[in-house]
Amino acid sequence: MQHWLTVSQTKPKLLLVDDQRVNILVLYELFRVDCEIFMAMDGEQALQLCRTVSPDLVLLDVCMDGLDGHEVCRRLKADPQTQNIPIIFVTGRGSEEDEVRGLDLGAVDFIVKPINPAIVRARVNTHLTLKRQNDILRSLAMLDGLTGVANRRKFDEELARSWLQSVREQAQLSVIMIDIDYFKRYNDHYGHLNGDSCLQAVAGALEQAINRPYDLLARYGGEEFACLLPNTQLNGAVMVAERMSANVQALQLEHLGSEIGQFVTVSLGVAAVTANHSIAPQALVQEADRRLYQAKHAGRAQVCFGNLATSLPAE
Ligand code: GH3
Ligand code: MG
Ligand code: MG
Repeated sequence: MQHWLTVSQTKPKLLLVDDQRVNILVLYELFRVDCEIFMAMDGEQALQLCRTVSPDLVLLDVCMDGLDGHEVCRRLKADPQTQNIPIIFVTGRGSEEDEVRGLDLGAVDFIVKPINPAIVRARVNTHLTLKRQNDILRSLAMLDGLTGVANRRKFDEELARSWLQSVREQAQLSVIMIDIDYFKRYNDHYGHLNGDSCLQAVAGALEQAINRPYDLLARYGGEEFACLLPNTQLNGAVMVAERMSANVQALQLEHLGSEIGQFVTVSLGVAAVTANHSIAPQALVQEADRRLYQAKHAGRAQVCFGNLATSLPAE
């Protein structure tokens, strides 16, 4: 199973936000056995924790000095990275007006202080269950049905994320595009069902070649795969690509229609970049694709590579 698909077998992460220590302690006692607990005593800290630990649920005090709960909620909902984190407001003011305001801001529920432990526990459990189901559906929507690896939507999403990270950290980001050689003839010769099995076997072999937690293999289209390697320089990515090629050849899948031997092979294009805001992430994919076509024209079953040329606009 893909690492990004492993829907947590671990405890759900609960963030408690309140500027009164005693309120946090009451909730902590209530959930410390079932949840992994994070705590924040002001809005800034809460936002920071939401970005870094991605809690599964936030219990958010409304009245706090500095950023109040409503403002924290607004900012979380405005940021794509945190907008799916469910929020329950916890407040001393229990008017209908307050409740409506909180729900309007995108909170999933509303709890009035002083809290009733049984009610809080029940509501938190309900929302943690919903969050888990939501996570599962989201993961499935990002999965390629035939091969079990990520799909293109997931790849594009992760590419955008990794791009920003590369800009921020000035770290190299690499992409490998992989295409099966003479696959049309494979289908023609062995039939579409065997073609599908071949795709599954190739996906498995490619995946064996990557091992860092943030590396991502995706099915990009028909018989084409794409691999995203954050924090990886060109030479490292080329090593991965060579390993992918070797793994596919080691499968020794018979391919009598191939013009370059009797087994299934892949061609690979590799490109690396230190991202900046003046180029679009898609340019890296295009460069890897260009290298892939170089590999095809050079005789297939090989790796071609290069850095994506970047030129920053003159200051
Ligand atoms: P090249 O070596 O230049 O890559 O040649 P090719 O035949 O692999 O490339 P081409 O793009 O001409 O053909 C790709 C073929 O991949 C066409 C189609 O029959 C096959 N294909 C695409 N998606 C699937 C799929 O989901 N299952 C199966 N069985 N075949 C697929
Ligand atoms: Mg092909
Ligand atoms: Mg193709």
